[in-house]
Amino acid sequence: MTKHIFITGGVVSSLGKGLTAASVALLLSRRGYRVRLQKLDPYLNVDPGTMSPYQHGEVYVTTDGAETDLDLGHYERFTGIDCFQDSNYTTGRIYSSVISRERKGEYLGKTVQVIPHITDEIKSAIRSLDADDVDIVITEIGGTVGDIESLPFLEAIRQYRQEIGKENGLFIHVTLVPYLKAARELKTKPSQQSVGILRTIGIIPDILVCRCERDLTKEHRDKLALFCNVARDLVIEEKDVDHSIYEVPVDLAKQDVDVYILELLKLHVDRLDLDDWHQMLDRLISPPNGEVEIAVVGKYIGLQDSYKSIYEALTHGGIANGVKVKIRMVESEDIEKSGAKELLSGVAGVLVPGGFGHRGIEGKVAAVQYARESSIPYFGICLGMQCAVMEFARNVCGKERANSAEFDADTEFPVIALMDEQKKITDMGGTMRLGGYACKLADGSISRSVYGKSEVSERHRHRYEFNNEYRDEFTEKGMVFAGLSPDGHLVEIVENAGHPWFVACQFHPEFQSTPLEAHPLFKGFVAAAMKTCSKTPGDEVDS
Ligand code: GLN
Repeated sequence: MTKHIFITGGVVSSLGKGLTAASVALLLSRRGYRVRLQKLDPYLNVDPGTMSPYQHGEVYVTTDGAETDLDLGHYERFTGIDCFQDSNYTTGRIYSSVISRERKGEYLGKTVQVIPHITDEIKSAIRSLDADDVDIVITEIGGTVGDIESLPFLEAIRQYRQEIGKENGLFIHVTLVPYLKAARELKTKPSQQSVGILRTIGIIPDILVCRCERDLTKEHRDKLALFCNVARDLVIEEKDVDHSIYEVPVDLAKQDVDVYILELLKLHVDRLDLDDWHQMLDRLISPPNGEVEIAVVGKYIGLQDSYKSIYEALTHGGIANGVKVKIRMVESEDIEKSGAKELLSGVAGVLVPGGFGHRGIEGKVAAVQYARESSIPYFGICLGMQCAVMEFARNVCGKERANSAEFDADTEFPVIALMDEQKKITDMGGTMRLGGYACKLADGSISRSVYGKSEVSERHRHRYEFNNEYRDEFTEKGMVFAGLSPDGHLVEIVENAGHPWFVACQFHPEFQSTPLEAHPLFKGFVAAAMKTCSKTPGDEVDS
């Protein structure tokens, strides 16, 4: 029988429930259990694909094309376990399926209600992960206990555990134990109150994970255990990490959280093997090869979560090369005001990530031009590839007004155009070209050499593509079409002949990078940036 772990959060949002879920999953899988992860989000959007990154952070895309919460990125990066469409449900998705069933008459004669119809639908979303080859399902409930909108989810998990019994399901509550400077004390009251709210709903947490800035003392643990009705050993400290989020599983393992979980679930406790993880952390914390600075030029730079997977994948590229990657976050609109040289000078590589809409586009194109003309490694991702094509058309092929049809529908030179299959689409949600597609790599290209193979599968999220009318002309001028769809129709990667490292892809490689195995393009990009750094001052890239 598949066992279940439910993770809730209390006191404040942004506690790092996703990191806790991912860390627990890593530990359990390293003890030999087959784990799957799932997130239930209480908002009304059917998926986060229609939200701005400023609202929600990055939209993480799975191989099977689900647009999901960024916590699924942590799940995959920490564990290497793939997530799918069934790994993320929202209130919107739950309600829309109940309402469509109601319209079909499936509840004929009945009043359709939150309890039992919505809660039943939530329970069947949880149950959908049960399988013969899954030992443990970890379900994280988004939002904070006490929010109106998370109530049906909490009621559903209460019922679920009631049905499967204590030995088959447990509750972990992640809470905040704040430090009050004036009182010079950690405070347990917010956690007591949060657990109090859970108790009124009928949930008593089995394990309390306490996020804190300082060590919990014996007195804090005793107090939390007493007031929150949790065994003393099951009050777990999750202190702010010193260097990296990848330290969280190690900190939790030191307190045997995985052992307690397995004992509560009446499962055998095998050896924990984290050797490779420790080695990776050593390289991350004390990189042998110094530091390299890379600019990320985007338009959602103000919010750290907007480019979460990009930043993580750069860190992975650093681990693989034994170097610390320092990220210079550059707002593309600032480049429009101050110029690329002013804001990018001194960096060893430039990355332009994905994005939508016209704002900041000219700054991104200027960043591409700067990297191309200065021979600094350039890595373009999705919109960053489309900007590279626009820049090439304008500044190498002399088509000054070349543009993407996304930003200028009437442009004389639509070098990036709406994909044919997108032309008849009117709905915005879930209708982009999404998920994993194959890409064939051209012999002799940088991409072919960094991947070390001739065909790869990468995840996508876009509506526009390279306009094939320009392929021959651009080839003549030095653009290399290094990656194509297997039928040769869709341009997946462009490079730039004569440039030391210029790779721009239509897909999102950042979604498949992990700390233990950096994505080849990120590894290659960071390696190329290190070469830029090691040049003598006479070779100054911004000369
Ligand atoms: N806006 C572009 C498109 O839809 C790029 C998308 C992206 O960067 N994810 O094609």
